Amino acid sequence: MIKNLKTWKTIIQFIITVLTAIISSFFVQSCMGKKSTPSLPATLYSVSQSPRPMKDVRYLVVHCTATRPSQHVTVADVDRWHRARHFCMIGYHWLIDRDGNIQPGRPEQYAGAHVKHFNDHAIGICYEGGVAEDGKTPMDTRTEAQKTALEHLLQVLHAQYPKATLHGHREFANKACPSFDCHEYDYVFDS
Ligand SMILES: [Zn+2]
Repeated sequence: MIKNLKTWKTIIQFIITVLTAIISSFFVQSCMGKKSTPSLPATLYSVSQSPRPMKDVRYLVVHCTATRPSQHVTVADVDRWHRARHFCMIGYHWLIDRDGNIQPGRPEQYAGAHVKHFNDHAIGICYEGGVAEDGKTPMDTRTEAQKTALEHLLQVLHAQYPKATLHGHREFANKACPSFDCHEYDYVFDS
């Protein structure tokens, strides 16, 4: 009887091991599947504007929030600032926070409010930071996480809008924004 019990125990342990292996391989596969199809988080906002034809997107424009490295800024903050300026909602489509989180702002199918005269044809990408602690000197304050997140976001947007070109806000206006040369990411657009 004891011997029998031991045999059963061994058999059950074997079954558990096999099942665990099958289940974990399934999870590994689904994670890998996720990685190969990059996706971005869905926006939380609804807009009253009329949508634009997405084939009209020609420019991916990079901005900074022009905030100090020690200041934490969320999409909700920028949304509040922009509404105070009588925009219908946040003017950027994407915000990359200091931790490298890609936060959705205005849905892409709606023209943004971030690059005067070009909004109908642009996607606005903004990173948290861009000025020194004095609050005014332009400075590339991007963290490593932000650099990686920006590369990832540009890869996804390039796949989505293959004809759109990359620009810093300062190419369209007499401003320092985004406080670095975004053409360091031109390699993303070579493929
Ligand atoms: Zn800007």
